[in-house]
Amino acid sequence: MEKIYIFGHKNADTDSVCSAIAYTWVLKRNGLNVEAYRLGKLNKETKFVLEKFGVEEPELLEDVEGKTCILLDHNEFKQSANNIEKAEILEIIDHHKMNFSWHKPIAILVRPVGSTCTIIGEIFLSELTDEDLKDEEVKKIAGLLLAGILSDTLVFKSSTTTGIDINIADILSQIADIEDFENFGEEMLKKKSDISDIKTRDMILGDSKEFEFNGKKVLIGQLEVLDDSQALERENEIFEELKKIKQEKGLHSCVFVLTNVLKEGSYMFVVTDDISLFEKAFDKKSENGKAFLEGIMSRKKDIVPKLEKAF
Ligand code: MG
Ligand code: MG
Ligand code: MG
Repeated sequence: MEKIYIFGHKNADTDSVCSAIAYTWVLKRNGLNVEAYRLGKLNKETKFVLEKFGVEEPELLEDVEGKTCILLDHNEFKQSANNIEKAEILEIIDHHKMNFSWHKPIAILVRPVGSTCTIIGEIFLSELTDEDLKDEEVKKIAGLLLAGILSDTLVFKSSTTTGIDINIADILSQIADIEDFENFGEEMLKKKSDISDIKTRDMILGDSKEFEFNGKKVLIGQLEVLDDSQALERENEIFEELKKIKQEKGLHSCVFVLTNVLKEGSYMFVVTDDISLFEKAFDKKSENGKAFLEGIMSRKKDIVPKLEKAF
C-alpha cells in the first residue's frame, strides 16, 4: 500500500502538529499506511506539549513531489510543503478560508471552528470504544488534541472559539485525565511567551503567513503572549526587522501582531507603502506604524478580512 504523508502548514504550530499526529493514529488504526510529518522547526509550546505526553517529534518533510499527501490546518500552497503542486493530494481538513483548487475531486472537510484539532477530535472520539478509554496511547492522543484546541483558541479567549471547541475539549480532557485544562493552556502559553533566547527576526517570522490583498503582498507575523513586556522592549528592533523583511521579500506591507491574551487585544507594528489602508481597516490612527487594537486577537478572523476589504 502506498504511503500517505500527513502534515500541517509551514511555520508549524501546536494545532497543525497535534492534528497530524492524531489523524495519523486514527488512519493507522483503520489499516492505512500513513505517517505524520512536520514542515520546519517546532516552537517551544509545541515541544513542551510533545514532551508532556511523551510523544516523539514527527520527522521533517522538505519536498513532496510525487508523494501522496493529506493537508491539515492549511489549504494554501504558499503555506504547504515544497512542490505540493506536483504531489497527489488525497484530502484536506482545515478551519481556514479556502484558497485552493485542484485538477480532480478530492475530500475536503472545512469547518468554521477554533482549531483543526477540534475537527480531528470529533473524528477521533467517534472511533473510540469503552475499552479504548483505558489505553495509554488513546489518553496521549486525547491530550495532544486538547493541546491543539487550547493553543489555537488561546484557551477559549480568541474570537474564533465556538461551543464545539469547548465541548470537544471538555470530553478530551476527561479522557486525557487533565482536569484543570485552563491551567494547562496557560502553561502552554507561557512557553510561547518566553522569547528570551529568540531573535527578533524569528519572533516575527516564527508564526507568519503571506497573503495577497488586491495583488499586493502582505506578510503578517503573530506572537500570542500572556506578558508582552519582553517583546515591547524590542520595539526599535521589530521595526528594523520588518523593514528588512519587507525589502527582501518585495512586500507591500510587513506586519507583526503581538497579541496579549490577558489584555484581549493586540499591538500591531506595520511597515508599509500605505499606512492609510491599515488605519482605515482598523479605524485607528497609528503612532509611527504602531497601534494597540482592542478585541483584535485572531489573524484569520479579526485581521485578514478587515485588511482584504480595505485593500
Ligand atoms: Mg495553524
Ligand atoms: Mg489551526
Ligand atoms: Mg495560530
